[in-house]
Amino acid sequence: MKYQFSVTKTKVPKIKPDPDTLGFGEVFTDHMFLMDYNESEGWHNGRIVPYGPLELDPAALVLHYGQEMFEGLKAYKNPEGKVVLFRPEKNAERTNNTNRRMCMPEVDPELYVEAIKAVVAIDQDWIPEKEGTALYIRPFIIATEPCLSVRPSKEYLFAVVLSPVGPYYKEGMAPTKIYVEQNFIRSVKGGTGFAKIGGNYAGAMLSQEVAHEEGYSQVLWLDGIEKKYVEEIGTSNAFFVVDNEVITAPLEGTILPGITRDSVINVLRGWGYNVREERLAISDLWEYYKEGRVQEIFASGTAAVISPVGELKWNDHVMIINNGEIGEISQKLYDEITGIQLGKREDKFGWVVNVD
Ligand SMILES: *Cc1c(COP(=O)(O)O)cnc(C)c1O
Repeated sequence: MKYQFSVTKTKVPKIKPDPDTLGFGEVFTDHMFLMDYNESEGWHNGRIVPYGPLELDPAALVLHYGQEMFEGLKAYKNPEGKVVLFRPEKNAERTNNTNRRMCMPEVDPELYVEAIKAVVAIDQDWIPEKEGTALYIRPFIIATEPCLSVRPSKEYLFAVVLSPVGPYYKEGMAPTKIYVEQNFIRSVKGGTGFAKIGGNYAGAMLSQEVAHEEGYSQVLWLDGIEKKYVEEIGTSNAFFVVDNEVITAPLEGTILPGITRDSVINVLRGWGYNVREERLAISDLWEYYKEGRVQEIFASGTAAVISPVGELKWNDHVMIINNGEIGEISQKLYDEITGIQLGKREDKFGWVVNVD
């Protein structure tokens, strides 16, 4: 290992939760990783300390102008008891793409992955082993300099916290009800849509609240300029299977470049599917639907891996997808990607990384 981190172990280890009652991001492990940045030293003082509250000046820039970013990935314990991560170098790469957009300092990808491995190794007894569970890893960076001028902070904190999470679907994978968002927009070219930042999430919450009130689990976002082309589903990437081809929005700065999205595209192409990263107009999707050509719609992301859509509402038009049941491609992708993550299927792409 190129980097060394100091370790201060907790004196009061917590009681681990019952694996049957795990939700998402509700309990946290015994330790966390912290590292500071200033202009003279760069990133320094990488350390593992007991999990607990951060001390922050009330004038810290993050609290006023939202200069921050986050990531999300999972650690698993495979059948041989080995602790593994899924493509963590992609999270490091995406962090630096986000950081450049947010005027925040980049982190050496090797340092980034070693920090994650170190804290996961310390708390590896917290990785739940029941089917569908995992240890969710949340790296984030916040601007800590006390200053009310609108300018990039000169000081930052990089932190990694860990949370054992339950299966996304408590009763097996279930198709969702989604509607096409017509009022609010999530991003435009030149904006921050490709960056994984809290601001994008804060701005999308009202839309999600309205969707929940109306009995839908998420919204399908359209492009922010013409409100015509499909982009993302909630906070996951969207895929449309039409005539046995798979269509997903291109990476043009408006959608988040999901690591699951990239994995899905690679697996599908490996199986011989034609995957088109192209704009798809919602009006065309409706025409294809009426012609009986829309076979499946699904979303992809770290939390659920694959989330099939059973119903999509666009204005007064309701599309029932695959009779409201899980599609064949959705199921195959879910089985393949979770199988690779857990070491049950061949890792042809070399995506799985051992923690020690
Ligand atoms: C994180 C995220 C995704 C999914 O990315 P994964 O790397 O697959 O987890 C998709 N859309 C948005 C807006 C996101 O924040």
